[in-house]
Amino acid sequence: MTSSDVLVAGAGPVGLAAAIELTRRDIPVRIIDQGERRTKLSKAVGVNTQSMELLEASGLTERLLAAGIRIQRANIHFDGKRLLTLELFRAKHRFNFILALAQSETERVLEEALAERGVTVERQTTLTGFEDRGDGITARMTAPAGEERVVDVCTLLGADGPRSTVREALGIPFTGARYDETWSLADVSIDWPYGYGEVNLFLTSAGPMLFTVPIAADRIRAISQTDDVLGMLPQGSRVETVHWQSTFHVALRQAETYQRGNAYLAGDAAHVHSPAGGRGMNLGFWDACSFAERCAAGTLDGYTAERHPIGERILGITDQMFRIARLTPGPAQMVRNFVMRTVARLPVVQSRIAPNLLGIER
Ligand SMILES: Cc1cc2nc3c(=O)[nH]c(=O)nc-3n(C[C@H](O)[C@H](O)[C@H](O)COP(=O)(O)OP(=O)(O)OC[C@H]3O[C@@H](n4cnc5c(N)ncnc54)[C@H](O)[C@@H]3O)c2cc1C
Repeated sequence: MTSSDVLVAGAGPVGLAAAIELTRRDIPVRIIDQGERRTKLSKAVGVNTQSMELLEASGLTERLLAAGIRIQRANIHFDGKRLLTLELFRAKHRFNFILALAQSETERVLEEALAERGVTVERQTTLTGFEDRGDGITARMTAPAGEERVVDVCTLLGADGPRSTVREALGIPFTGARYDETWSLADVSIDWPYGYGEVNLFLTSAGPMLFTVPIAADRIRAISQTDDVLGMLPQGSRVETVHWQSTFHVALRQAETYQRGNAYLAGDAAHVHSPAGGRGMNLGFWDACSFAERCAAGTLDGYTAERHPIGERILGITDQMFRIARLTPGPAQMVRNFVMRTVARLPVVQSRIAPNLLGIER
């Protein structure tokens, strides 16, 4: 038996950020992950303004800025014609850009920063169950050689992703639904007229859309609301290399509570939603920072009361963005396009839209 103040289950971006924020406040932490190594996949590709603010105190923002690409313009096209360019730099904020960076790189930066603080991720270590003793948690885990380990901690943070063992063991419902359609994504090097410095959303009169974001100087991430992302690329595009390709389903789910006894949830363990708006990982960073702050202040009682409504609101925003983008022919689509061609172009309107896209919340 060993003792530590907080056990973080899951070393994805959210668990790593939580561990860093706890360590920064001198709270002893152990962090375990069932995986042999961190992800090689690009997955979430945008760090937003709010995350950059939150992660500044730990020095992470500076490191992420050094690794990523700053994006200040987002173009919206409709059936091959550009409707609107959103000028993110109109937001009155020093981080008035989206920081594009593959999740694999974000996790590398976080894990290295955590190691410098003396905490190493315990890999191939799977949380299998736990008991809440009232004054703490007794957690069971399997270690690399398959042996069982038992660990006593004060607090358990489940940052163990959408199929969270912690959430399931607590019996917390993950309420919501999954959209039927299959989405696809690809990371590609491409020869096309849109360059490698701006975000592009390609809407079509038929409904399906394509979204692209640069993730390196020679690479973009393309996401489509169809199962054939490469087939959705605009005419005249020539794909040079496909670095990664995958399909996925969009779900909209939220845990009914983020805490029970001495166990808490953060990140995808607590909420999943559409990639519209690039909020997934960023909302998780916010959970992680709030958890650590409350842990240090002894105010974890109020964690769900703070985080659940924020999660609910952001799930609502992403769902609304998703629905607006996928409108099929009809009056609503015409109104959307008209607004984009006219009102949304005005600098004064752009100054109001930009903070929303950047996730500036407070
Ligand atoms: C294909 C794909 C594309 C995506 N694209 C985007 C995007 O463009 N924009 C965006 O914002 N988001 C995107 N996401 C979502 C984004 O990746 C997640 O929001 C983000 O990873 C959440 O981080 P997390 O740390 O909460 O969970 P995860 O990244 O899922 O990390 C959970 C960790 O917990 C570990 N774990 C699980 N169970 C246990 C256990 N019992 N014991 C120990 N360890 C355990 C796992 O090995 C994993 O490392 C995408 C996801 C996928 C799969």
